[in-house]
Amino acid sequence: MVLDITSLINGKAPKIDFEYEIDAQGEDTDILPPSDVSFTAPVRVKGIVTDNAGYMALSLTAEIDYISRCARCLEDISGTFTLKFNRKVATKGTLQDEDNDEYVIVKNGFLDIDRELVDDLLLEFPAKLLCKEECKGLCSKCGKNLNFGECDCPKKKEIDPRLAILQKLLENDETM
Ligand SMILES: [Zn+2]
Ligand SMILES: [Zn+2]
Repeated sequence: MVLDITSLINGKAPKIDFEYEIDAQGEDTDILPPSDVSFTAPVRVKGIVTDNAGYMALSLTAEIDYISRCARCLEDISGTFTLKFNRKVATKGTLQDEDNDEYVIVKNGFLDIDRELVDDLLLEFPAKLLCKEECKGLCSKCGKNLNFGECDCPKKKEIDPRLAILQKLLENDETM
């Protein structure tokens, strides 16, 4: 969205609220999900531009719904990713370095929010999605989903503690 913040710059409004959506599905969307992820709804954006004695700031929250697969157990998952996005706002020509990531630049009273927001959204989107934090994943031998219970594959044998002591003594003997 390109937001007209002329009234803020002129001092006629102390803040400007905004709320809009960015298409995340159409053919010409810039919002390309990571592999194995699909975005299922537009990005919902809600925020505010404020002016504090000439220091302007942009603060917004963006939400996007997704479907994907758990990186460990491969089960289908869905969720909403939320990004908090905060930038200082400067009018064009007032900064020495306009590529500074802390700023978004206003041109002729218009603030272009989307470009950097979309970059950030894709950058911050989790590289690994899990069905739950403690997902047990799949058995590396039989492929069973261990969240639904143990499989029958042989587990590492526990050594009898009494034998372990004996074994240690034997090892010590060898080094003497
Ligand atoms: Zn999982
Ligand atoms: Zn198994």
